[in-house]
Amino acid sequence: MNYAKSRIWTELDFEKDGKQVGYLHLPHSVDRSGAGTIAIPCAVFRNGAGPSSLLMAGNHGDEYEGQVALTRLIRDLEADDIKGRIIVVPAINLPAAMAGTRISPIDDRNLNRCFPGNPNGTPTEQIAYYVEAVLAPMCESWLDLHSGGASMAFMPYAQIILSRDEALNKRALAALEAFGAPLSLIQGFSDEPNMSNSAAVRNNVIHFGTEAGGSGTVNPDGVKLAYDGTLRSLVHLGHLSPRNRRIPIPPAPKKVRWIEIASRDYYVYAPQAGLFEPMVKLGDTVKKGQLYGHVHFVDDPMRLPAEVKFKASGLVVCMRHPGRCERGDCLGHLATDIKR
Ligand code: CA
Repeated sequence: MNYAKSRIWTELDFEKDGKQVGYLHLPHSVDRSGAGTIAIPCAVFRNGAGPSSLLMAGNHGDEYEGQVALTRLIRDLEADDIKGRIIVVPAINLPAAMAGTRISPIDDRNLNRCFPGNPNGTPTEQIAYYVEAVLAPMCESWLDLHSGGASMAFMPYAQIILSRDEALNKRALAALEAFGAPLSLIQGFSDEPNMSNSAAVRNNVIHFGTEAGGSGTVNPDGVKLAYDGTLRSLVHLGHLSPRNRRIPIPPAPKKVRWIEIASRDYYVYAPQAGLFEPMVKLGDTVKKGQLYGHVHFVDDPMRLPAEVKFKASGLVVCMRHPGRCERGDCLGHLATDIKR
């Protein structure tokens, strides 16, 4: 595709061999800094010809596990360790990451609903545009590390979202297998055009990632999954040799549990505003019709709590984290096993 020029500039040279750690500069003129920029950290590792991959976290600013894993990777990795080119952006929506919020505090936009972005739009739209029009076209693979953020807690897993492109699906599935998460989710195809997975498909780039924890905290198991899985992926993608001398490649788990979210019925939504008290825990297996919990009305003590039941059977892989809910808030979702 031919794209208009992005306003984001960088001193990084994506074609140069070596390790460069610098910034993507998004012009942002504010009271404090009339000619200022938002400086989004970015590292480029290049060692000769070979594949190109984009590793990204902080698409949502309050999803921390991938941000920790990729900043560590930038410190650990040297250009000599790899073949080809690896672009690492550990906090792509930097204003959101610095605020610890899902969406940007500057423009109230959710980066993962902004693709393909706009070269002259709001800061978040410009970031989306830069990723879609500049970074993704340089690469064949895109790892996008997500988590539950402040409002959700996930059993850490890795995932792909299927597209209509069977050849890309096959390559993405191979990358997901190589990532080696003990719990791995294959999501049915999505037509949401504004998410990063669609941006990848538009660029003929494979897209895979994680839901590595959440609850507004840093889940150590999620960080380990994100870091170890990233290294295993770099081997699979042809960047790292499994016999390299400096970076030990963590062994993949012996057994992988493959899951999917088969339909909307596996999601649970709050029927009323109130205080949600769950009766199950993350990782529980539940049955259709089973009580998930109660929405309490603490301002009306004699009013009976509303019952919330599961509409399907499955594994509880995601639960809402905050106690208070509004009608329509997602209270969590299930996944079910698939044969592979
Ligand atoms: Ca996310």
